[in-house]
Amino acid sequence: MSYVSEVLQDLIKKNPNEPEFHQAATEVLESLEPIVEANPVYQKMGILERLTEPDRIVMFRVPWVDDSGKIQVNKGYRIQFNNSIGPYKGGLRLHPSVNLSILKFLGFEQVFKNSLTGLPIGGAKGGSNFDPKGKSDREVMAFCQSFMTELFKYIGKDTDVPAGDIGTGAREIGYMFGQYKRITGLYEGVLTGKGLTYGGSLARKEATGYGLIYLMNEMLAAHAMNFDGKRVLVSGSGNVAIYAAEKAAQYGAKVVAMCDSNGWIYDEAGVDLDAIKKIKEVERKRISEYLNYRPKAEYHTDGSIWDVPCDIALPCATQNELNLENAKTLIKNGCVAVGEGANMPTTPDAAHEFLKNNVLFAPGKAANAGGVATSALEMSQNSLRLSWSFEEVDARLKGIMVNIYKNIDAASEKYGFKDNFIVGANIAGFTKVADSMVAHGIV
Ligand code: NDP
Repeated sequence: MSYVSEVLQDLIKKNPNEPEFHQAATEVLESLEPIVEANPVYQKMGILERLTEPDRIVMFRVPWVDDSGKIQVNKGYRIQFNNSIGPYKGGLRLHPSVNLSILKFLGFEQVFKNSLTGLPIGGAKGGSNFDPKGKSDREVMAFCQSFMTELFKYIGKDTDVPAGDIGTGAREIGYMFGQYKRITGLYEGVLTGKGLTYGGSLARKEATGYGLIYLMNEMLAAHAMNFDGKRVLVSGSGNVAIYAAEKAAQYGAKVVAMCDSNGWIYDEAGVDLDAIKKIKEVERKRISEYLNYRPKAEYHTDGSIWDVPCDIALPCATQNELNLENAKTLIKNGCVAVGEGANMPTTPDAAHEFLKNNVLFAPGKAANAGGVATSALEMSQNSLRLSWSFEEVDARLKGIMVNIYKNIDAASEKYGFKDNFIVGANIAGFTKVADSMVAHGIV
């Protein structure tokens, strides 16, 4: 049995009931076979065994009082996965589906993603099964303050710098930052995704979505294509989806469909992003409201957004939202490229189907790395006590995404998997972390 198979078998045995973590680890480790075989030092130093076991997992109770006076208790987590190349960094997800398996998959992926950015950041993830949807501002604040009252012990600007993710936007980051400052007395860049008045970075809000399009544009250009005139589907209507759609439209694409977890809209005239921003960013309402702005558009709760014919598909909502059947439909309808704005939105068999049919496929850990890259730029600005202009941050982001494409392309070619950017991203992300772990000895 190969080293990779042995580690995977052991991992599944040691971590039962963690299907998302198994899925992410299997996808990464299997694609590392060529580099691991070519470098026996990795096996000798137990790199894969150590890389798949988080440095530490903190789990805690988050009690808070709701508006009716009732005590609620949620689970809080922080998974510090690997800090070989820099302080832990990764988002906090607030969603009822949050559990250990999902956070371990996200933390594990984050290690490679952060490495791909070329910046000195390690990998982590955290969050809670708290659902901010439908809660009052006071309830969200009560939760965030309680969450931070425990979390502050484990984080800091040079140790672990959390950020936003699903359910954790500017409001939640603000409440958490306020509580951290209050408890510790420190005014430091301990969180990213902060508001612009207190240490946030311009272009952070746009970064993941814009970064996805910058990388996709590079990938398309290398294959004699571009966004101009293309029909694009963007799933989700949150932070990543909105700004991916915005940049794609700026590059001449027509975004014809978006969704939320209740249903999807189809607008042949091209989605009106001002309307989406108003519904989602300001009013926090459902996407069905879109018909009030564009009565000729359609709203569906059955079928799938992936049934709409398109040239380019951008899954930007959540994990495993695009399955094999969806992939076959997309391919049949002429889709030429897929870019993952979300983390692991494509099931492994669907991703394989894309590769088999020569659909260009940009995996999330490369394609959505613009968010964390810009978070690292926010950390730099905080340390320098400076703030850069939107244009400066955006230009750095673009440079980083172009560079990521070059690196994953080069790694895929070097190991004989030209244009397989899943292998390219995993190998390129792995190398720096693994070599640092070798240099640090058995720790
Ligand atoms: P948001 O919470 O802002 O938005 C998530 C969107 O996806 C919402 O529109 C949500 O709808 C929708 N959604 C969630 N679950 C489903 C589902 N099962 N079916 C259809 N739609 C669904 O999160 P983000 O935009 O920040 O994150 C989206 C993804 O991108 C996540 O995988 C995240 O980990 C990843 N990511 C985010 C980064 C960032 O900077 N924000 C950075 C890198 C990756 P509803 O409102 O109904 O729940």
